[in-house]
This record gives sequence, C-alpha cells and structure tokens, in this order.
Amino acid sequence: MGDCQQVADPAAGWHPLRMPERNPTRAVRIGPITIGAGHPIAVQSMCATHTQDIEATVEQATALHEAGAGVVRLAVDSKKDAEAVAEIAARCPATLCIDLQESYRLAVDVAPHVAKLRYNPGHLYHHEKSKSARDKVALVAEAAAGNDCAIRVGVNCGSVDPAVAEQFGDDSVGAMVASALEHCGYLDDLGFDRYVVSLKDSDPRKVIEGNQRFADERPEVPLHLGVTEAGLLPDGAIKTRIAFEQLISRGIGDTIRVSLTLPNPRKPEEISVGREILEDIAGGRFRSVPDFGADRLNIISCPSCSRVENEAFVELAEAVRELTRYAEEHALTIAVMGCRVNGPGETDDADLGLWCGPAHVNLKRGPESLGSYSYDEILPRLRAELDRLIES
Ligand code: SF4
Repeated sequence: MGDCQQVADPAAGWHPLRMPERNPTRAVRIGPITIGAGHPIAVQSMCATHTQDIEATVEQATALHEAGAGVVRLAVDSKKDAEAVAEIAARCPATLCIDLQESYRLAVDVAPHVAKLRYNPGHLYHHEKSKSARDKVALVAEAAAGNDCAIRVGVNCGSVDPAVAEQFGDDSVGAMVASALEHCGYLDDLGFDRYVVSLKDSDPRKVIEGNQRFADERPEVPLHLGVTEAGLLPDGAIKTRIAFEQLISRGIGDTIRVSLTLPNPRKPEEISVGREILEDIAGGRFRSVPDFGADRLNIISCPSCSRVENEAFVELAEAVRELTRYAEEHALTIAVMGCRVNGPGETDDADLGLWCGPAHVNLKRGPESLGSYSYDEILPRLRAELDRLIES
C-alpha cells in the first residue's frame, strides 16, 4: 500500500478517510460532486422503483441521497420514463444519473434534467442496426456535452457487444476490457473527456482482473467499481468487499456501487455497506477471501431496478437461496435476474439461470432454455434441475 491521502465525502458530512494512494485519474464532475483526481470515493446507488411511479421514485431517490448516495441512477427505457425524469429531478435532491440500455436515443430527452448518462456498449446494437456504434455514441456525447452531463461507459461482462465478444472467445475479461477501450476511443475522438468507465461482472475475480487490465491501459480514466448482481446479503457484500479491497488498495477506483438484492425499503443499505467497506480499507482492515465462490454453491442475483418485471423478484431470490441450501457444498452457480433486458444474457454463464417475466420465470441450464414456469411452479422445477445437475 502506498502513501495515504485525506479524502472525505462532503455530501454526507462524513469524517475524512485515509485511503491508499490512488491512481492519478482525471477529475470528472457529476453535478455538485467530482470524482477522480484524488477526490472522495463517492458511493452510488440505483432506484429499484418503476421510474414512471414518480412518488415512489422520488421517495427512494431521496432516501438514497439522505443515506449518503453521491449519485442515484434511474433506468429509462421509454419516452414515458423520460417524461417522468423531468418531474423526479424537479422534486428530488439527489444527483441523478440515467441508465440507458437499448434506448440510447432517449439521452436527448433526459440529459437536460440530470447530471450523468450511463450507456452500456453491449446493448447499443439492438436498435438501428445499420447505424454504427460510433454514431450512436456521438448522439449520447452530444446530448451530454450540451447539457452539462458526465457519461459512464458501463460495460458488463455478461452483455459485451457480440462483435467484440466473438473476437475473444473464452477470454470474457479481455472482451470486456476491449469494449471499454473501444468506447473510450470513440469519446476521445469526439473530444468528450468527461467520462468514467465501469467493468463489471458477478464474479469478483473477473472484476479485479478487468479493472486492473483497463487501468494498466488507461490509468487516467476514472473507474466506477462494482460487482454486478452481487446478490443477497451477506454474500453480496462479501463478493463486493473482495473486489473493492483488491482494487482500491492498488489505487484503482474513484466511485463505487454495491449491487444488493434488497426489498425497496432497505435499498439504502447499499450505501451503508459501501461506506463500511471503504472505512475498513481506510483503516487497513482487510478481510478478502480470494477464492470466494470457487468451491461451493454461488447464487448471484441482480439488485433489481425499475425494469424488474414482477415485484415478487426479491422474494424469489430469497426463496431460491433457502431452497438450495442443501446444495451448498457443490461448486455450481445459480443466477436469478429481474428482467428481460439483462436476464437472458447474464444467465448464460450460470449452471442454472432464472430470469423473470411479468407472470412467468424463464429457466435455463447454461445458455439452453428449459422453458418458462409460473411463480408457483418455478421452485420445484428448479429443485429438480439442481438435483439432476448434482447427480450428473
Ligand atoms: S436484470 Fe433487469 S431488473 Fe435486474 S438490475 Fe438488471 S436491468 Fe434491472
């Protein structure tokens, strides 16, 4: 660990933390906060309420802000979502970021109301297939530049642009890093440098490797750290802690998000868990278990967001954990995802995957679909498949 420097989170009025020496990233302003260049490591979160439910979203974004979230993200997938953002932004004290997946063109509608836009390079190809990724990024960058917004290039290992993933075969981390570098190149060529990058996976080891490889190539680009679909407590916090301890102690990371599967009223716990991990790192209290998940049952589940297709999702994730406790000694991964945007892709690498629709849950074994089942039917069906896997 190198020299220490004083950092604090003025938004939350926290006391300064002495963090390990950090990479000399450039400063990126997101509304009233700045990350990178030695500024405080901001803790972020995301609303799990439906964006069009303005009351609930204002309430949750405010609760996250009051818990200390430097930035609060909202998912936007439609014009109606975008319209809701204007009112949410007017009524809520949080610094807002908009999460764009397939519908990148909505950047134009939401940018006037928020401080940051996040797009996923792996989902740009879905719409307007004849238009190049570079042109799509140009649209997002123009909307950001014209409205005083920062951008996050948010790459997920489970949804890398298929054209890039194809070139890397089994090296999924290499594909994730290449996709991030490609999009940095687009933004650099456009003269837009107010961006940060994230490279996420549900496996903390891939998060560590991906961020290290990226930071070796572009040490000046601020990094947003996170273990996506880290899942239920306590495992979700442990996986996240492993990645953050390994990266932040090497100077990598300018802002963090802890992605936990929690019922809506408990969503601010993402902030307290993130804050606790940072305090422990600052205090030299490291607890990493680098082989986590390698030799026992690993349940990953998304933190849910406004895209979640059935409110029973969090209960389902908890029920899956209870049902599968008998298999804890088996080195298998079960993924539980809340929607069709990331569910189908991000369950491909799991031994068994479930992703939620409004009335049915889709069950997969690796990339193979096993059918869809009602919320009442899915657990016995999962149990039968798990038994089959264990016996095979
Ligand atoms: S899988 Fe869907 S519901 Fe879950 S966090 Fe991702 S986008 Fe949101």
